[in-house]
Amino acid sequence: SWIYLDGKFVPAEEAAVSVYDHGLLYGDGVFEGIRAYNGRVFRLEEHVKRLYDSAKAIMLEIPMTEEEMAAAIRETLRKNGLSDAYIRPLVTRGVGDLGLDPRKCAKPTVMIISQKWDAMYGDLYDVGLTAITVTVRRNSPAALPPNIKSLNYLNNILAKIEANVKGGNEAIFLDDAGNISEGSGDNIFVVKDGEISTPYTANNLKGITRLAVIEVALARGYGVKEANLGLFDLYTADEIFVTGTAAEVAPVTKIDGRVISGGRPGPVTKDLMEGFKEMTMTTGTP
Ligand code: PLP
Repeated sequence: SWIYLDGKFVPAEEAAVSVYDHGLLYGDGVFEGIRAYNGRVFRLEEHVKRLYDSAKAIMLEIPMTEEEMAAAIRETLRKNGLSDAYIRPLVTRGVGDLGLDPRKCAKPTVMIISQKWDAMYGDLYDVGLTAITVTVRRNSPAALPPNIKSLNYLNNILAKIEANVKGGNEAIFLDDAGNISEGSGDNIFVVKDGEISTPYTANNLKGITRLAVIEVALARGYGVKEANLGLFDLYTADEIFVTGTAAEVAPVTKIDGRVISGGRPGPVTKDLMEGFKEMTMTTGTP
């Protein structure tokens, strides 16, 4: 396959960055995960915007316009002949020296990786995920704001490891205050008495799928609210699901040993899974 690297397409085997790239040395960079369905890129503009917002928040100037980035993403798909794909644009601070001062990095490194892709949880969409709330806390908005989609995913990886060790398919973070934050790579929703709630976005990534699913829910007549949710809300939920570019809408039917929705995806979750699928099939940038 072909990788977009600093303005050129390079065969994947040859696509490499320097060991002095600060993306590697310090996790100094930002990224996005984007999906294409049926040859159309889902919410392309929103993802590009979030990439540039993440970059701006860390004072990283991406050396191309948002329009050029969007065009490069679409060109990467065309070049690879992909119509259903996962696309990973990354921008690092670039090549510097062993010091962490970003002023030593002359120009950011821009990469776009793409691959054929199907929804990440396979058979689990039918039975639901087992989720584990983890002891690792989501990084605090006061430290590294979770809204920045930076290359510092070690927290998320520690959370995933904890879930793996405890037999879960996905990790759910709490924040410092004990509020539910999000999954290691997706946002979380709770259904109770027919109403849908999801945490505010101060302590998690402002998911693009999250917003799309809220739109689907409202269009289908559900009430949706943002709220501070705690463990009690999860354990007593009628239904739980997570949303993300890679996960799409995925039911959670067990959390910390508590069975949710009788251990099967519930009716609201199924309705939203269907509505979201329809949205991905009928919208997007060709
Ligand atoms: N939360 C985290 C930590 C993520 O990495 C992701 C994935 O991008 C999400 C949530 C879901 O966001 P989106 O729906 O924009 O993919």
